[in-house]
Amino acid sequence: MKTKLDHIAIAVKSIDESISFFENLGLEFSDHREEVQSQKVKTAFCKIDEFAKIELLEATSEESTIHKFIEKKGEGIHHLCFSVENVLEMQEFLSAKGMKFIYEKPFVGAGNCLVNFIHPKSAKGILIEISQKLK
Ligand code: ZN
Repeated sequence: MKTKLDHIAIAVKSIDESISFFENLGLEFSDHREEVQSQKVKTAFCKIDEFAKIELLEATSEESTIHKFIEKKGEGIHHLCFSVENVLEMQEFLSAKGMKFIYEKPFVGAGNCLVNFIHPKSAKGILIEISQKLK
């Protein structure tokens, strides 16, 4: 199985204000902003290496889980994402082991990827996204 770290997602109040902080570290963000309507978030990505990225997540609505996350915990690491070959197969494999998922079925997230999230209660307290690049 070729599971790779795909991205580390950070919940921020404002992408534009956060980027200058990360740029001080020498990271370069793409100017591309993508809105994921179903999640009510705006995203910006920065490539770390061939595979891994940093994803900044900004809420576009007060109903967004990112808005609620920041209200509760403040800005910070929101989830880790691992790319897998087949999200649905991985979900079925992990569900059979008793792991709980946030969504019943995978859905299309940012960057044309099919994704789902493993519930933190099943994943050492970490929200874990699994993602499969769609062609
Ligand atoms: Zn993500």
